[in-house]
Amino acid sequence: MGLKDLSHAAERKAFETAIDGFLKHVKKKDYAERSKTYGKLVDAAGTFWKDANKDTLAAAKKAVMDPDNRWMKFINRVIDETDPHYAKTMLLNLGYEAFFRGTKTIRANREKYHCNIPWLILFDPTMACNMHCVGCWSGTYGHKANLTFEQMDKIVTQGKELGAYLYMMTGGEPTVRMKDIFRLAEKHNDCFFGLYSNSTLITDELAEKVRQLGNITFMLSLEGTPDTNDERRGNGHYAKVMEAMDILRKHGIVFGTSVCYTRENIEAVTSDDFFHLLENKGARFGFYFHFMPVGNNAVPELMPTVEQRKYIIDRIRYVRSDKCDFSFFPMDFQNDGEYVGGCIAGGRNYFHINSNGDAEPCVFIHFSDSNIDDKSILEILQSPLFMEYHKGQPFNRNQLRPCPMLENPQLLRKMVHDTDAHQTNLESPESVEHLCEKCDDYAKEWAPVAEEVWKSETHKKKSYENYSEEHREHPELAAFQTEDDVTEECRENPELAAYRSSYTNGGLRKEA
Ligand code: SF4
Repeated sequence: MGLKDLSHAAERKAFETAIDGFLKHVKKKDYAERSKTYGKLVDAAGTFWKDANKDTLAAAKKAVMDPDNRWMKFINRVIDETDPHYAKTMLLNLGYEAFFRGTKTIRANREKYHCNIPWLILFDPTMACNMHCVGCWSGTYGHKANLTFEQMDKIVTQGKELGAYLYMMTGGEPTVRMKDIFRLAEKHNDCFFGLYSNSTLITDELAEKVRQLGNITFMLSLEGTPDTNDERRGNGHYAKVMEAMDILRKHGIVFGTSVCYTRENIEAVTSDDFFHLLENKGARFGFYFHFMPVGNNAVPELMPTVEQRKYIIDRIRYVRSDKCDFSFFPMDFQNDGEYVGGCIAGGRNYFHINSNGDAEPCVFIHFSDSNIDDKSILEILQSPLFMEYHKGQPFNRNQLRPCPMLENPQLLRKMVHDTDAHQTNLESPESVEHLCEKCDDYAKEWAPVAEEVWKSETHKKKSYENYSEEHREHPELAAFQTEDDVTEECRENPELAAYRSSYTNGGLRKEA
C-alpha cells in the first residue's frame, strides 16, 4: 500500500467513525437532537473541505438546524426508513468517496489532462430485455450484445483512478445480469451503483443481497397511471413496479424512479396523485427524461409541445419548492441544465458505454469513435468526438437549450461529421441527418420560448465551472445570456471580440 492509499484509507476510516457516531444519534427519534448532530456534521464538512464557500456552509447549517425545514423533514424520513448498514455504506461511498474525495480528484485531473473528466459513468451490462416497450430504442441495438464482467471491471477500475465513484447501468434490463453486477459491487465496495430497471426481476432474495452490500440503488421505470404506463410497457407492468417498490421498501433500500415524459403522458406523470403514489410507496427521488426521437422507428410526435415543456419546468420546480411538501425529489434531465452548467455529456459530468463497448457522449447520442476494448477511459475522454464536446460546452448559454441534438441539432451534425464518428445502433443504423432532422422544427419552436423563460429569471455564475479554459476565462462573457446582455465595454474589447464572434445572438455557438 503506497502513501496515497494509506492516507485515503485513514481518511475513509475517519469518515466511517463520524458516520457511525452520526447514525447512532440519528437513530433516536429525537428530531431536535438530530438537528444538533446535523449541525456538527456541517461543521465537520467545513473542516475537511477547506475551500468550501463560507456562505453556503452557513446557509446549510441554518437549514439543517431547523427540524421544521421541508428538506430536513425529508432527510429525517429517509433516515428513519433506511436500513442502518445500507445508510452507512451509501453515506461513505456516495458522500465521502464520490462527492467529497472524488470531486477533488476529478477537478485536479481536469486541469492535468485538459479534457472532460466525469463524475459518473453510465454503462449497459446487456442489451437483453424481457420487455418490449413502445418507443424504446434498446431492443434496436441487438439483443446479443453484452459487456463481460472483465469489461465492466475495467470501466470501474479505470474510472476510479480518475476520481469517478458513481456508476449507473441501463440497457436492456441490467437485472438480467445481476450475478455479475453483485460481483462488481462486491469487488468495488467503495463505489455506488444505480440501476435503471423495469422492476420485473426484483425479488426478496435480490433485495436482501442489495441490503447486505449497501452500494446499489434502483431507478424504477414508471409512466403515470396503470393505463398510461401499461399502454407503453405492456399489461401487468404497473402492478410489477408496485410490488418491486414494496420489496425494496421492506428491505430498507433507498430507491427512486425513472420517467420518460411524452406528449401523451406528461399530465399523468406530474399529477398530484402520481407524486402522492410515489411518496407513499417509498420512492424518494426521480429522474424525469424528455422523450428523445432517437432511432429510425422513433415517433417525433411523442415529443412534448412547447406549452407542455413550459409547464413541466414550472411543475417540477414547484414540487421541489418550499410551497410543496411531497417527500419526493424530482430532477428534470432536460430542464435542470442551469444547476449543472448545461449539457453534462461527453464526460463533462458523465458519458455512456453501450453493451457493445462503444463509448457514446450521452445515452441519447448513438455515435462513437472509441471502444472500451481499444482504449482506456482516459483515451476515450481525449478522443476527437469527446474533445469536440469539451471544446463546445456549454453548447448554449441559455441552459434551457442545452442539447447539441434536441435544441441545437446543427451542432451534433457538425461534431459527428468533423470527427467521422460512426453510428452505434447495430440493428437499424440511423444517420445523424435523419436523427437531427427530427429535432430541427422542435428546436426552432422552442428557441424563442426558451429565451423568454430564461430572461424572466435571474441566473448566477457558478464559482466553479468545468468548461474548457477558453470558456471559463472571460467571466463577463460567461455570464451573458443574449447578445443584448453583452455590455458596451465588453462589446468594444478587442481581446474578447474573437471569443464573442464564435457566438450568434442568443448565445448560440455558430456552426462554422
Ligand atoms: S447530449 Fe443532450 S441529452 Fe445528453 S446530456 Fe447533453 S444535453 Fe442532455
